[in-house]
Amino acid sequence: MKPVQKPSDPRLAILIAAVAVAGTVLIALPFLITTPSAAPAAYSPTATSAAEESLPTVAAPAQTASPAVQPTPTPETVAAIDYFRANADKERYIQWIREISGDVEVTIEGKPTRIMTRYSYAMFGGKENAKGFEYMLERIRQWIPAENIAIEPFQYIDGMGANTWQNIVLTFPGKSLPDEQVILSAHYDSVVVFMGDSFEAAPGANDNGTGVASLFELLPLLPKMQFERTLKIIFFSGEENFQEGAAGYVRQHKDDNIIGVINLDMYGTDRDGDRCFEMYVGKLDGSLGLANLIIDVIDRYDLNLTYDVLTTNAYDKADHRPFWESGIPAVTLMENFLTDSTLWGGGCVGMDRTDCWHLPCDTYEKINVDYAFDVGLAGIFTALELAGANPVIVGN
Ligand SMILES: [Zn+2]
Repeated sequence: MKPVQKPSDPRLAILIAAVAVAGTVLIALPFLITTPSAAPAAYSPTATSAAEESLPTVAAPAQTASPAVQPTPTPETVAAIDYFRANADKERYIQWIREISGDVEVTIEGKPTRIMTRYSYAMFGGKENAKGFEYMLERIRQWIPAENIAIEPFQYIDGMGANTWQNIVLTFPGKSLPDEQVILSAHYDSVVVFMGDSFEAAPGANDNGTGVASLFELLPLLPKMQFERTLKIIFFSGEENFQEGAAGYVRQHKDDNIIGVINLDMYGTDRDGDRCFEMYVGKLDGSLGLANLIIDVIDRYDLNLTYDVLTTNAYDKADHRPFWESGIPAVTLMENFLTDSTLWGGGCVGMDRTDCWHLPCDTYEKINVDYAFDVGLAGIFTALELAGANPVIVGN
């Protein structure tokens, strides 16, 4: 850390004092999050997957975690999270989903339209019914200064040739540890596979309107926060085509020091009311550390959520996959999509997933708003803690 300069502004003094207190925790964090607590066999490199699959559900590591994996957030970070929580709104949350899934008309570039599909080929092929990318940018530009916004194209080569699609990357540079990056992401593209035509209608309200809307609740507040680490909010396209957006991002940013990725993808279904979601964690130690932090956050902020933590049996067709393949810690939060295959947690009973996955019926009214909103909070709070968020004094 740089030496602390003598501040002339009392508000700055408070901030710097808080940062100084935070220093120990912050410096320790990268070590902490790569140090999983005792989770027997679950991530042992010598264990076979067959053996792991036969294991009964074991207690969540959070219950036996050493203090090292429960970093105490600074008062400033707690204040930033409280500030976000007080301003996030469930009615607006579902309204974003209605807009992005074509349920209601939106105005884009001054013209009324409906976003009937966010299929990447349609969005980036000039289709009039597929203005999802333009909608995202217009919204984001209302909230985030231009210097924080980057449109990052990537190439996806299919049987017909090369396509150029776009990720939207928002960067908030860290103050004390700018080289360490925390990523909070959601894909904004959609698809229908089992029925219908993705060029005509792919509402994707749950998949992944739920994740995009969570981040939309956060975005207007980000200019009112500062961060110790660099925070990147990324909206990926091309997820529904083999996670090409995330893969393109990892190719372009392989030399970045990404300490953790929290990816939000499809969590609108909870018919059995157990408030359970799945974390796809995989086998990297850093990902296990992220999962422990999410569990800790759920507890400390009384989010009243249950969860399954999946390691060897994790679903791998979401945007965490390209990060894992490059050894970058990443966790995806999703509804109870799989049958019981967890090694920790064990909160989910059976499978409780949407009937409308990748179908034209993936519409807003099927979303359990209370549950979806809170799963989003769990992911966002965790990213804000990892990034060391500080509120900026309002009005200054
Ligand atoms: Zn998805």
